[in-house]
Amino acid sequence: MSLIVQKFGGTSVGSLERIREVAKRVAQTRAQGHQVIVVVSAIAGETNRLLALGRELSARPNEREMDVLVATGEQVSASLTALALIEIGVPACSLLGHQARIVTDHVHTKARIEKIECDRLHEALKQGSVPVVAGFQGIDHEGNITTLGRGGTDTTAVAIAAAVQADICEIYTDVDGVYTTDPNVCPSARKIGRISYDEMLELASLGAKVLQLRSVELAMKYGVPVHVRSSFNSSEGTMVIDDKSLESVVVSGVAADKSEVKLTVRGLHDQPGVVAQLFEALAERAISVDMIIQNISEQGTTDLTFTVKRDDLDKTHEITSQVASGMGARQVLVDQEIAKISVVGLGMRSHAGVASRMFRILAARGINIEAISTSEIKISCIIRQSSADDAVRALHEGFALGG
Ligand code: ADP
Ligand code: ASP
Ligand code: MG
Repeated sequence: MSLIVQKFGGTSVGSLERIREVAKRVAQTRAQGHQVIVVVSAIAGETNRLLALGRELSARPNEREMDVLVATGEQVSASLTALALIEIGVPACSLLGHQARIVTDHVHTKARIEKIECDRLHEALKQGSVPVVAGFQGIDHEGNITTLGRGGTDTTAVAIAAAVQADICEIYTDVDGVYTTDPNVCPSARKIGRISYDEMLELASLGAKVLQLRSVELAMKYGVPVHVRSSFNSSEGTMVIDDKSLESVVVSGVAADKSEVKLTVRGLHDQPGVVAQLFEALAERAISVDMIIQNISEQGTTDLTFTVKRDDLDKTHEITSQVASGMGARQVLVDQEIAKISVVGLGMRSHAGVASRMFRILAARGINIEAISTSEIKISCIIRQSSADDAVRALHEGFALGG
């Protein structure tokens, strides 16, 4: 008998029909002798609908209230899933974030899970019942509802799997597994049978939203085996595991991220402490900066360009403008039309020439590169957003990743 966490994403609980299918799958898993904890996302489209409602009322909506609002999406799907299970004779009980004791920090809209007190989950399992946990939500130390950032139900599932020491965490979604690139953008994308935590971490951080980045970090930290698979069929998906034997693959995947924006501060004094002051002010407001480029200095001033998540644009613009004017900078420019395109592979550690090949492939399509960043196992370029899909297909083909 195994203990299995099964997470169902928005499309997988997208209608009552889909929810009935979820219940059947859970019942089948139990019939094979396993214990199951279910974690669900909101019905597809619901989180966006709720966010739009809040934003219609307020241009800069209060984040605590937005968390209360969007967390209702998962409350609906958790109760419906529990109802569907009970209807087919499987005892089940929905649990919201505070009931499952998912304790987070207090950073509204992107809280991090600090601990999960598993008593209630264990109690339900002991009584032969299936706990159906509302994903994406938690509770801070003062009892406020928090949410974990877009795609956060993946993180709820992996965190629960780690906390109860489940044998596996199954992520059911609308594609058959993790592909060499987004199969909805590139038809020749190939399903990867096994992928290492390291590579999955890079893919997730670079925009492959099939798993939320934080869920991969937790899976790696606690050694949770993750199986990404389709809720529409029963074929094997992708195992995300601690596998060092995959190191020979130079490039294993291509990812595109359209969720970032670029800010440029013109005419910043080129002296020690200036950059620190700006990025400290951003860090204090929990804004993570991704790429940073500082140009060469001319007459004691320089230009500084950096990227942040689009959701953080308003806050970032406000803080940057304040800090920049205090430091005598001339101007803050915002560019929302960028995309970050990346190639990822453990084998890059020991292979030269991947970057030049990437640049050549983009050049051949007439795609201009505006910024570059590299790590041991990935290369990312900022390009125009309108070229992103074309770049994905070109790189996928250029690195011969297709089937
Ligand atoms: P869910 O609602 O189940 O959480 P998501 O929409 O968050 O599903 O994630 C699944 C989507 O991720 C797929 O439909 C696909 O378009 C996208 N995706 C991006 N990159 C990849 C990749 N490398 N492999 C698989 N899917 C990917
Ligand atoms: N419902 C949330 C979202 O749309 C969380 C999730 O689906 O994982 O981002
Ligand atoms: Mg998701």
